[in-house]
Amino acid sequence: MSNARTVYRVCPLCEATCGIAVQIEGDRITDIRGDRDDPFSQGYICPKAYGLKALHEDPDRLRRPVRRGQDGWQEIAWDEAVGESVAQLQAIKQRHGNDSVAVYVGNPAVHNLHVMTYLPAFYQALGTRQRYSASSVDQLPKMVSVGLMFGGGLLIPIPDIDRTSHMLILGGNPVVSNGSLMTAPNARKRLDAIVKRGGKVVVIDPRRTETARRASEHHFIRPGTDALLLLAMVHVMFDEGLVELGRADGLVTDPDRVRPLVAGFSPDRVADRCGIDRATIVRLTREFCAADSAVCYGRIGTTAQAFGTVASWAVDLVNILSGNLDRPGGAMFPRAAAVRGSHRKQHKKKSLRFGRWHSRVQGFAEMFGELPVVTLADEILSPGADRVRALVTLAGNPLLSAPNVGKLQRALDSLDFMVSIDLYRNETTRYADIIIPPPSPAERYSYDLAFYRLSVRDVAKFSAPALAKPADQPDEWEIMLGLTKGLMGQADVPVDAADEFFIGQLVGAEVGDGGRWDGLTAQEALEALSHRRGPARMLDLLLRLGPYGDGFGRNPDGLSLRKLEDNPHGIDLGPLKPQLPDILRNPDGLIDLQPELIVADLDRLRASIAEAPNSIVIIGRRHLRSNNSWMHNLEPLVKGPDRCTLLMSTADAERLGLSDADRVRVSSRVGAVTASVQVTPDLMPGVVSLPHGWGHDAEGASMRVAREYSGVNVNVLSDDQAFDVPSGNAALNGVPVTIEPISAR
Ligand code: SF4
Repeated sequence: MSNARTVYRVCPLCEATCGIAVQIEGDRITDIRGDRDDPFSQGYICPKAYGLKALHEDPDRLRRPVRRGQDGWQEIAWDEAVGESVAQLQAIKQRHGNDSVAVYVGNPAVHNLHVMTYLPAFYQALGTRQRYSASSVDQLPKMVSVGLMFGGGLLIPIPDIDRTSHMLILGGNPVVSNGSLMTAPNARKRLDAIVKRGGKVVVIDPRRTETARRASEHHFIRPGTDALLLLAMVHVMFDEGLVELGRADGLVTDPDRVRPLVAGFSPDRVADRCGIDRATIVRLTREFCAADSAVCYGRIGTTAQAFGTVASWAVDLVNILSGNLDRPGGAMFPRAAAVRGSHRKQHKKKSLRFGRWHSRVQGFAEMFGELPVVTLADEILSPGADRVRALVTLAGNPLLSAPNVGKLQRALDSLDFMVSIDLYRNETTRYADIIIPPPSPAERYSYDLAFYRLSVRDVAKFSAPALAKPADQPDEWEIMLGLTKGLMGQADVPVDAADEFFIGQLVGAEVGDGGRWDGLTAQEALEALSHRRGPARMLDLLLRLGPYGDGFGRNPDGLSLRKLEDNPHGIDLGPLKPQLPDILRNPDGLIDLQPELIVADLDRLRASIAEAPNSIVIIGRRHLRSNNSWMHNLEPLVKGPDRCTLLMSTADAERLGLSDADRVRVSSRVGAVTASVQVTPDLMPGVVSLPHGWGHDAEGASMRVAREYSGVNVNVLSDDQAFDVPSGNAALNGVPVTIEPISAR
């Protein structure tokens, strides 16, 4: 008799949170399809979803902890792995201080309920200020700009893509990413729908991307000049009397103080530098302002570049000054169902503080509790009593994602100790002394705490594990809690007792007097949650306290984890809703249109107008079947023609005498790689492109498929000295390079 069954889950592999129907026979996944009854994704999935099965079955995926010794890697017991890691970290902390241990958290951790709920306790136990994450090679400038403007690093206005009449996209490729800082499964259909209902999609990008090809209009732009274009648009808005605040009226600092800030950025002045002529800039602005509703959206090309924070600010200036903030079809704030602090009737209004500490070597300011990863290698390599000597990585592969790989490699090689919680022995974790693998994504609870805060509709969906994990395999939260209590000198305390302590802490912080739910006490909440443990319990607390919550029985139709369990396809909580002014967190209750930190960077931007452009710069790109570095060991996702090619414009190829498949040496200030050329009319002359996340030929890594389809690592070329000044985010796009033919046909 067949024991086949179908379970409905959320795909945890990227931001889009698509619903999947997973067919299971015994302990095997036999098929993965889109969940047609998921109210958000409505059956859509991308090819990566099948990667969930391949990832689960991958023989290279670690199933047990391993330790590196003189005779190579040996499997060790779970308790031994945790105990020895704690002992080594404690010894280093005692000898050299808390900051001698650094932590790096990779992008997949943000999709992971276990890490999201237990990371704060782990940080608390480590006590280090040397915290790094993939944020600072990605969206940190956006977090900084919205933090300063609205008062919170995740108060990011999201395109109301399903209702807008006009969408202006800079440096983003939603057709491939399905969003990114805009959770939007099947973004292609949503974008096509804008055009079908008579609206317009305009894409500004140095590459005619998959999104640009479907858009109403596309313009090339020189990498790193998005801020110039956007400020020129603001200039036109003031010049032509198009400024209109709409729902933001009365809720912003004096808009007239923006006018002098953009005075030096007229379309005439910036046109040549951007590569977009004056008349086009003026027309784009007029059309944006004249649309029934419009939204400007900037993604990785606007953040991971030299002027990321100013460009991110300028995106929101365009939205606010055209009256499109917080209105249907404009840029709106999602109302997530589970978010910390949502019980409070009145949100605390306080100034966001950056620079509570600084990095030792280059003096980078702390932001959101982290330092930028461009300086991690400095902090390890530069001599000094307080240098970093140990590293913990969590689902991170900075040797593929951070700049100046050669330097970072030397740094990791010099560490006294490194422990990684990771599925693979990859390019980075091969430097670890101990690797502790979490269960596969198919074996864990899932709820997207982060990305429902960035979603184009308010939705909630909880996934229990699709498959049971092996009996002796701890959950990821149990691994983290084991390390946490060990570092707190409480190794002998059982995991469940430690969990009681941390849920007590969370309930104490979240359930206070005078909250949203009248009369609720911490005791009542704790008792109601006592049948659960781990991340599920923390999630249940946040859901029940949240804006759609059941208030622990006070709103019987509201959300709880039980209700989500009873609705395995997920629950649609409706379109985005206007939220001004309640959502604002600045002490004066206003949107700061002129944050000091950003205004201080405008001189640098102004000076860039006169700079002669570099003859060739490199940018990254993303493919539908790839998500950063970590899915390249999955044959179904990497097979087929080589995707790690150097895209080059037809004009540049002719100038350099190059054709398809010719090999070239690409070099920058810090490194060189060899790549195959792919000539295309879809790239702006003066720009070449390599996808990121490749370069899997490192000795000691154990990812056989990835090695076979190795590709080259674009971050060998990116420069740790090139960064966005206000945030310290790496400027991965727009790196000057030299191209030398190796073999031209
Ligand atoms: S778009 Fe993202 S969430 Fe959706 S199926 Fe693909 S990888 Fe999964």
